[in-house]
Amino acid sequence: MTNEELWEAALAELELNLSGPNFKTWFSQTSVLKRENRLIEIGCPTSYSRGRIEQRHYHQVKKVLDRLTKEENELIFSVDTSPKLPEKPFGPLFAEKKGLRKGIGLFPNYTFENFVVGGCNSLAHAVALAIVDKPGRAYNPVFFYSGVGLGKTHLIQAIGNEILTKRQNLSVLYCTGESFTNELLDSIQSGHRKTTAKFREKFRKTDVLLIDDIQFIAGRETTQEEFFNTFNALYMAKKQIILTSDKPPREIAKLEERLSSRFVGGMIADIQSPDFDVRVAILRNKAQALKVDIPDEVIDTIAEGVSTNIRELEGTFHQVLTYAQTQHLELTPETVIKILGDNFKKQKTAATPKKIIQTVCTYYTVKPKALKGKRRPKEIVRPRQVVMYLLRNLTELSLEQIGELLGGRDHTTVMYGIKRIEKLVEENLQIREQVNVVKQQICG
Ligand code: ADP
Ligand code: MG
Repeated sequence: MTNEELWEAALAELELNLSGPNFKTWFSQTSVLKRENRLIEIGCPTSYSRGRIEQRHYHQVKKVLDRLTKEENELIFSVDTSPKLPEKPFGPLFAEKKGLRKGIGLFPNYTFENFVVGGCNSLAHAVALAIVDKPGRAYNPVFFYSGVGLGKTHLIQAIGNEILTKRQNLSVLYCTGESFTNELLDSIQSGHRKTTAKFREKFRKTDVLLIDDIQFIAGRETTQEEFFNTFNALYMAKKQIILTSDKPPREIAKLEERLSSRFVGGMIADIQSPDFDVRVAILRNKAQALKVDIPDEVIDTIAEGVSTNIRELEGTFHQVLTYAQTQHLELTPETVIKILGDNFKKQKTAATPKKIIQTVCTYYTVKPKALKGKRRPKEIVRPRQVVMYLLRNLTELSLEQIGELLGGRDHTTVMYGIKRIEKLVEENLQIREQVNVVKQQICG
């Protein structure tokens, strides 16, 4: 009997002896990790569940295992957080009750384990962990936004999966703004009251609602009305609501004010483009997952060439692998450049943060030290904002890192400064010229 078979048989028996909710709560995601010299190690998903099982069910578990193995065993319980598929059935009886563990719309391969964290997404990641820790109680609602391909879907799916694993009494529902809209319209078109009631129940009875790309509902009256009511019902019941979008709430065109004001009432976290180190880490992870050996220089070359979008980064990576394999080419940085064409050769600017600060200071005749100071006289504010703007546009620094460089200013200040210059560059010819001149001096 393998460990797996042993545990499956034990669970089937235990399930008969324990009340349904007890069994479900404490024994799903457990396993026999090791069996040696009459010592059986049982893995539990959390230290909490381990404590519970050990204290309350030790004798029941031992009795069953002793009988099945026809031996007197010692049991030890340990925490085993390795991910298991949420729907893993534990034998026939448990399988029948599988529907009890609700995770709708989740893909098990989006996890925290394979989500690389760096400056670009550390806030969003921290918020995500806090949600998993206290669904509905840490931050509610939560709104993540970023450009395409930067990890919003991955992150909220990971939240859903992790909640399912750690808190088996909670139900999770993932859905895109688009399918929310379509399902609603279908239910209305069917003309049956029951269908709309079912739709409402589905969205209002969940403990955790994840709506991806909520911007889709903007401009659609019926959908926004329905979502507003769904939102309120869940919010009042202290259920966790998590939304993503390509823009912050206030910038979504045609989104009703009553919705955007609710969204900004919660926690908002953005995800920025990944810096070089994060891109390298993501590619290394990929290579490892695919069990392929790829030279560091090759990974670096790809990471250097694709900087804005992780989906594109992954796409390029696969493209290179496939091509090199089918053409029997050795993987070198040169092959990568050959495969991906000359465009790919990054127009590497010589823009270092130091050079940017120096050039701006010389141009505006201010001292670098003044830029970092706490004071904000007029003559300093503009050059400081130009530095923020150029650091953002010419380097891979995050808002936080830019703030650090400028005397420990926080990222909202930096964001404000950048926005200010962006606006001026558009509207004011003089500023546009200034910025262009400085830019040319920096990039050569
Ligand atoms: P978005 O929803 O913001 O458009 P996705 O979540 O679909 O972006 O991410 C695009 C791809 O990049 C996915 O394959 C995802 O797994 C991957 N990805 C995004 N962010 C990360 C990250 N921090 N670590 C690892 N992979 C990531
Ligand atoms: Mg997405």
